[in-house]
Amino acid sequence: MHSLHNIDISGKRLLIREDLNVPVSNGQVTSDARILAALPTLQYALEQQAAVMVMSHLGRPAEGHPEPSYSLAPVAQRLSELLGQTVRLVSNWLDGVNVSPGELVLCENVRFCVGEKVNDPELARQMADLCDVFVMDAFGTAHRAQASTEGVIHAAPAAVAGPLLSAELDALSKVLRDPQRPLLAVIGGSKVSTKLGVLHNILPQVDHLIVGGGIANTLLAAAGYPVGQSLHEPDLLDAAAELIASGKIPMPKDVVVGSSFSADTPATIKPVDQVGDDDMILDIGPQTAADYAGIVQTCGTILWNGPVGVFEFPAFAEGTRALSRAIADSSAYSVAGGGDTLAAINQFDVADGISYQSTGGGAFLEYVEGKTLPAVAALEARSRSVA
Ligand code: AMP
Repeated sequence: MHSLHNIDISGKRLLIREDLNVPVSNGQVTSDARILAALPTLQYALEQQAAVMVMSHLGRPAEGHPEPSYSLAPVAQRLSELLGQTVRLVSNWLDGVNVSPGELVLCENVRFCVGEKVNDPELARQMADLCDVFVMDAFGTAHRAQASTEGVIHAAPAAVAGPLLSAELDALSKVLRDPQRPLLAVIGGSKVSTKLGVLHNILPQVDHLIVGGGIANTLLAAAGYPVGQSLHEPDLLDAAAELIASGKIPMPKDVVVGSSFSADTPATIKPVDQVGDDDMILDIGPQTAADYAGIVQTCGTILWNGPVGVFEFPAFAEGTRALSRAIADSSAYSVAGGGDTLAAINQFDVADGISYQSTGGGAFLEYVEGKTLPAVAALEARSRSVA
């Protein structure tokens, strides 16, 4: 892929796709992590005196219905503060944008545009016509072939990878291509079904696989343990049994159960074979957390996606806290990705010990799964065509 740092952008019209899909409450950005991750790219483009237009999505609005609650106005406000210069939000940007060298404007939510999701070539052409160079920097959306993430790459006069996208790909390929062993993957979360492909594909590559959340519950059920009312997927017991047969997945010895999915249900630690019919497993127990921390300590590389318990409820956060602390304290090269994982890192204040935090959730998992990310494939095709 050609990259932003290798071309002359001074005075050029740059259209940059970022992932500025941040949480917003009462018109205020409540976590600016994704904006901060994009900031070096935007600052570089401004320093080079490019005329900068930035595109992003926010939430899941209906196309053609520019609902104010999905406006990027709060993002423009936060970006203005962080860049120390006014960032205009442009509502009707598809027909042309007035922007001068050294100025940055934000185009209103790309998901308001009809045709974005289906990757309409006409919409992609309109986007491409705005610029001299298109910069794909949104790793978090690189797994989606949409007009602003993929179609525009084919249509733009030139298309390059942005520094954030390149850094994300470098960090992940370092882990997957030539990891320092042992390699551990921690895959938590609510469902086996959404992560089965990742679990299958990662298993041959790793030395250890720690699973958590509803995924672990399904494995426990497949191993014949009682799981009571716990979130699990009975249809996937065969697939879960296959995963267990690898011998690479440690099983929990103890769990923390509640009687309902709520923050105030009393938390009880139980051995894994003592889970009752009315119990709901909501976290790993302290013995299991200590076992997992022991595995973490021996590893050279760690890939982490997903919590091992309902860390949003304080009584069930200890497992994820202990594991995140162990990962942060280890000398292993660690890459963490996904919204919940980054929220946990933040909540438990362990960011300093994580080698690389990926902004991608779905893209992170698809890359790990070995899938080709459409935006990356398109950038590679463009670079071959001009090489
Ligand atoms: P996912 O969206 O699949 O990545 O799953 C993340 C969610 O799984 C988080 O919101 C956790 O609260 C939830 N989770 C973790 N452990 C459990 C569990 N044992 N039962 C139900 N949900 C869980």
